[in-house]
Amino acid sequence: MTMTIDDALPGGNIIVQSQSGRVAILAPDLRDTSSKWFYWKFRARFSEPGRYVFRFAPWPAMGARGPAVSADQGRTWQWLGTDAVDFATESFTYDCPAAGEERWFCVCIPYLQTDWERFTASIPTGAATMAELCRSRQNRPVECLSIGHPDATRRIFLSSRHHAQESMATFTLEGFLREVMEHPDDFADFFIFAVPFIDKDGVENGDQGKNRQPHDHARDYGSKPIYPEVKAVIDQINQRRFDLILDLHCPWLRGGPTNETVFFVGTYPPEAQQGLEEFSRLLAEEAPPDAPHFPADNLPYGTGWNTAENYTQGMPLPFWANNCCDWKPQGISVEIPFANLRELTFRPANAINLGRAFARAARRFLRQQRPR
Ligand SMILES: [Zn+2]
Repeated sequence: MTMTIDDALPGGNIIVQSQSGRVAILAPDLRDTSSKWFYWKFRARFSEPGRYVFRFAPWPAMGARGPAVSADQGRTWQWLGTDAVDFATESFTYDCPAAGEERWFCVCIPYLQTDWERFTASIPTGAATMAELCRSRQNRPVECLSIGHPDATRRIFLSSRHHAQESMATFTLEGFLREVMEHPDDFADFFIFAVPFIDKDGVENGDQGKNRQPHDHARDYGSKPIYPEVKAVIDQINQRRFDLILDLHCPWLRGGPTNETVFFVGTYPPEAQQGLEEFSRLLAEEAPPDAPHFPADNLPYGTGWNTAENYTQGMPLPFWANNCCDWKPQGISVEIPFANLRELTFRPANAINLGRAFARAARRFLRQQRPR
């Protein structure tokens, strides 16, 4: 064998359908997902230098900038670039420079527990409180982080990874927290509570997460949640009575009318939609040139995939917040692209800058909002 492939790594996911010489035919491992989805991540070890081919057809498996590649066992990642990709066959080539090299490849740039730990290790003592929200079904500690006092006049709940593989959303969540911690005076009257990995097991196990059976974490809000993380989030929200509940997602893999923009998912009732539009306007003003937002990209409720049919299995967090919390918080769902933001290449640094803009927009939003 000139190449060995395996997925025994954090967030690993691959099915090797066949392998011959320097060509591997691969597929994402769907596990308990009820529909086709696109998440994969694997390690390749090369015994000879040369060109290797990885083919996923007929699965859509190539992001807008090609796969992400890591030469340092997942610590840092780069987009391989579209020159290495053939979108017609959902394949990419990799030129291995020397015998004995190891590379990790992923459909997106991952954000896992180790990334979160690197971030939280950099936080100055006293700037934030790290705690355990609950235990996952597989007994992993589910991380949460808070900034400020719970009795502060303005309270924000932040989450990502209701869908396990939506990694760019967590870079944005990290950027939000960085902005708040670096400007404590601007946020002195705020309490921030963040859960970076709602589907904790799915993130670390490398599950698709999306459309998990019988329903995924983003369809679990209501009177009888089946996931311990969702139950713990509902308890926190009822206890803390947050004013703003911001749930970060990533869209589908590439292309289409909405998958390469930052866009808000339209909601109901009308007051909640008005608030969402106001937040979107503020974000457009705050967003930096390397992570712009255009309100025209938002997806109104009742259009595209954002219809009642998409929510028959259950409610996502923001919809639940907008309709089931008696103190009328503002629930907002937003989609952060994986690799392209319109014509820009989107990388973790862009997503972090976008998160910073979200924090500034949230501050203005809650400061100007009349008591409800
Ligand atoms: Zn999602």
